[in-house]
Amino acid sequence: MPTERAAAHARAGAYLEVDLSAVQENYRRLSGRLGRAECAAVVKADAYGLGVAKVAPALWAAGARRFFVALPDEAIAVRKVLPTAQVFVLGGLFGGAERDYLAHGICPVLNSLGEIAAWRALPPAERPPAAIQFDSGLSRLGLPADEAARLIDDPSLLEGIELGFLMSHLACAEEQEHPLNSRQRQAFSDFCRRFPRMRRSFANSSGIFLGSEYHFDIARPGVALYGGNPTPGCENPMASCVRLRSRILQVRDIARGESVGYGATFTATQPTRIATVATGYADGYSRYLSNIGRLWLADYCVPIVGRISMDLITLDVSGLPADISMPGALVDLIGERETIDDIAEKAGTIPYEVLTSLGGRFHRTYKEA
Ligand SMILES: *Cc1c(COP(=O)(O)O)cnc(C)c1O
Repeated sequence: MPTERAAAHARAGAYLEVDLSAVQENYRRLSGRLGRAECAAVVKADAYGLGVAKVAPALWAAGARRFFVALPDEAIAVRKVLPTAQVFVLGGLFGGAERDYLAHGICPVLNSLGEIAAWRALPPAERPPAAIQFDSGLSRLGLPADEAARLIDDPSLLEGIELGFLMSHLACAEEQEHPLNSRQRQAFSDFCRRFPRMRRSFANSSGIFLGSEYHFDIARPGVALYGGNPTPGCENPMASCVRLRSRILQVRDIARGESVGYGATFTATQPTRIATVATGYADGYSRYLSNIGRLWLADYCVPIVGRISMDLITLDVSGLPADISMPGALVDLIGERETIDDIAEKAGTIPYEVLTSLGGRFHRTYKEA
């Protein structure tokens, strides 16, 4: 087996290293900031692309006991590696899948009166705890105001349900000054006041940094665990968790006037040395970074020139020592010097999308404490 792994390493075009100890460090930083409130962990979308089978147990070892995913299948995957964790499905009950919730001990976030009724219709002895989501202003999932009012008028609609907590989700948490933040917090508080003694969950990653009045009882960070900056515009308080490196396949010299790549979008204005790297947009490296992205080769910052294609990126390595820019050398595409936030900004997206786009062709390794 080790030799097969070594062979797979030798023939890979790119290497993705996930630092599990950095994920754990981020969990501890967020927990510390939360004080008495519980820090749960959002591991939807394969733990934001990092690999839930490795990431969820690492978070468990760091102290997380409650996990959130988007889909029932994702919850089953978490169950496989964490048999005693509480796993909540944010997307609701997925009508027709109720039996799977019971069979696997998966907890639903109930998002409507209809889902609450459907959950109550199942055998009480087999039902794991549920949560109820209230829509405080995102207009996406959860009880809208009229359904919330009906529930407040008739709490017997919840009879027999073991309720873990009430929850809601912020729309603009990464904008500290956005007026919707406090409006949502107020609406959620007003709703929860009608259910005294019930635990409350509100903050995502950025919500944790809005202040302790946003913490309530259980926070649900995702992206900050994986190194995304929860406070855009300020220094990132989280540790970087992923490093992506790729190998140079070929190096060539082109003359002034020659172009590079599809569409000939880059033309050399002087003799130029081009290195071609074995990663492309099929690996989740956004094509928007064509002619604007940059990466690192040893200690040199190197610009991407020409279009990024499906499997390849072309770099201008003119002026670098030849023994550095040579076939087989590794370039750093994502890491501490070019972060997921840097890349997201250049590509016109968010670090969430950079992470969840990471492809399946990398040779993956996990660094543990
Ligand atoms: C994805 C998600 C989170 C985690 O959000 P981050 O911004 O990644 O911390 C929390 N709550 C809900 C409802 C979500 O959908």
